[in-house]
Amino acid sequence: MDTFDAALQKAKGLFDSACKKTDEVVNVGKLKFELSSAESKLEKAFCALGKAQYNVLKDKEDLEIEAKALVLDVNDKLSDVENLRNEITKLTGKGVCGECGAALTNGAAFCSSCGKKVK
Ligand SMILES: [Zn+2]
Repeated sequence: MDTFDAALQKAKGLFDSACKKTDEVVNVGKLKFELSSAESKLEKAFCALGKAQYNVLKDKEDLEIEAKALVLDVNDKLSDVENLRNEITKLTGKGVCGECGAALTNGAAFCSSCGKKVK
């Protein structure tokens, strides 16, 4: 019975540490999901800015004020993306490529995903 209890205790310990690891993985996974969502919002904001710019050029009226709001919106999304990348970097201890958002291998000089030079 004692050995059974000991085995049970050991199994519980392994389970607890596995759960802790899983929590970290889930947090990073959640952040990566948020990052890709933030990136797609950023794309949409850029797109909206592009359309507004087109309208400004097309028939110049009072669209410059609207364009300014769109620039601020892009800035907002850019900082969201930046913050999420930083948080992922903090949690994983690894850098994230500033170009494509892929996780960087420690000590790597170039991104293995897009080939951009790592600063
Ligand atoms: Zn990259």
